[in-house]
Parts: sequence; C-alpha cells; structure tokens
Amino acid sequence: MTHPGQLLKQAGLYAGKELGQNFLSNPGTAKMIIEKAGISEDAHVLEIGSGLGALTLPLAKKVSHVTAVEKDGRLIPILREVIDNEGLKNIDIIHQDILKIQIKDLLKDKKLVVIGNLPYNISSQILIKLVEERKYIEKAFLMFQKELGTRILAPPGGREYSRLSAVSQYAAKISFVADIGPSSFFPSPDVYSTILQFKFIQSEDLDESQEKLLFDVIKSAFSKRRKTLKNSMAGGELEYKKEFVLQALALATIDPQRRAETLSVEEFKALSRAIRAISG
Ligand code: SAM
Repeated sequence: MTHPGQLLKQAGLYAGKELGQNFLSNPGTAKMIIEKAGISEDAHVLEIGSGLGALTLPLAKKVSHVTAVEKDGRLIPILREVIDNEGLKNIDIIHQDILKIQIKDLLKDKKLVVIGNLPYNISSQILIKLVEERKYIEKAFLMFQKELGTRILAPPGGREYSRLSAVSQYAAKISFVADIGPSSFFPSPDVYSTILQFKFIQSEDLDESQEKLLFDVIKSAFSKRRKTLKNSMAGGELEYKKEFVLQALALATIDPQRRAETLSVEEFKALSRAIRAISG
C-alpha cells in the first residue's frame, strides 16, 4: 500500500477537512478491520468514501464485488490507477455523494454489506440513511469518531443516550468491533475512532408509516433534550398541542415529567402507538 501522503503529493493534492479526509495509512489496520468484519467471499460490499483505496483494494481481493462510492472527484483517477495496478476487475467506482444515492439502485443479486471509514462531519446522517434503507442491507461495519460511537451504543438513562442511539438500537443489533488510534491515519486526527458492527433487523410489528412516525417521535422528543417530554414534544416540529401530548403519554403509561433520554426503544414504540391511536 502506497502511503496516502505520497499519493496525494504525487497528484499535487491535499486532504480536505470539509470532506472528513483522514485516510488510513497503516496497512495493518486496514487488514485488521477487514479480518474482524469477517465478510463472506460471495458478498457484494458497498464501501462509503473509498478515498485512495486503503480498504477498497484488500476488500476486492477478498469478496466477489465492491461498489465504491466517493464524492471527491480529485481522488477518482488516483483510485482507478491503484486498482488497475493491482489488476482488480471487481470494483465499480461511483463518483457521487452517498447521501444522494438510493441504496436499492446499487443492488445486484443479494443484500449489501456496507463498510466505511466515514467522513466524520456527516457520519450521523449516513447512519440514519442506512437505517432508513436497511431493507437492502445485511450488515454494516462503520468507523465513527469514538465519542459518537459511545453515544450510539449508550443505553437509556444517561447523558450519552441520544436520538441516534434510539433509532439505531431499534434498527440493528450493534456491537463494538475495535478502537483505532490517530496514528493509523493521514493526516492524524485529534481523536480516537471506533468501529461498530450493525446487524440490521426488519421490524415485525411496525409498517413503513408507523416506523416513520416512531422516528419522528424520537426526533421530536430529543429536540429539546433538557426539557420534560410534555414540554419537548408540545409545539415542536410535529406541532402537537400540549393536551394531545399529555393524552398520548398517559395512554402509553409514561410519566410526562420524564425526559427523552430516559425512554427505552420499547417505550418510544408505545408512545408512537398511542399517538397513532388517538390521532384516529
Ligand atoms: N476509505 C478511505 C480510507 O479509509 O483511507 C477514506 C476514508 S476518509 C475518512 C472519508 C472519505 O469519504 C474521503 O475519501 C472523502 O472524500 C469521502 N467522502 C466525504 N463525504 C462523502 C460523501 N458525502 N459521499 C461519499 N464520500 C464522501
């Protein structure tokens, strides 16, 4: 693996902060990530933010097909060249913003396995997108800034539990894979990174519109997380009246003095069922 600093220098480029470009520079770390992911050989992998190919190349040597999505057009010719030098023929490169792609348009014959050393500035948005389109995804291995990884894994009841924890814990069985230190990247970030595995679950009891309501309720409850539920949800983006919120909380047997950060996923589901029931 050629060091990303050298590849950038040869092309007269620099790493862009606005695109979260901290490239993996340690081939041992890339290998470890792929080994830990244990992706089967017949998998079709979607890589988000392929950069200069640190994960793309070893992945393509292991699995049947890789679809690599990269937003930065400056990197595409370099990526093509390193792929050609290795003689790899099983990689499709898509020059696009992952947030503008429909996952179902990438499908071949089976569900995707997603992998990504994610651009940190949009990693929450990417995770929400994958959750919303998880029908087409078997599992994902995603690298986050460590603090965000901790929040995603956090149980209800603490300061770390957030909208992203509730939504992702509803949609997936999440497990910790590894922490990666700053020295594995170029340029080195100031923070540690965490890799999490998401095994996506399809909801058995909520249809698409019920699930959308659940996500809206979670978003609205966390919109003013310091406030009690009756105050955070009343008048917010869902434009519920306070009386309506109190009625829904009563039906779901949830104390209106509680805050969003204390509600389990099951309680959010009960609350959204109650809202649906009294909306008629
Ligand atoms: N996978 C490479 C690696 O591990 O060395 C690069 C990882 S770097 C942290 C994130 C990559 O995502 C960069 O190549 C960046 O250009 C790309 N990126 C940023 N925003 C993106 C977006 N919206 N859609 C697709 N790729 C994006």
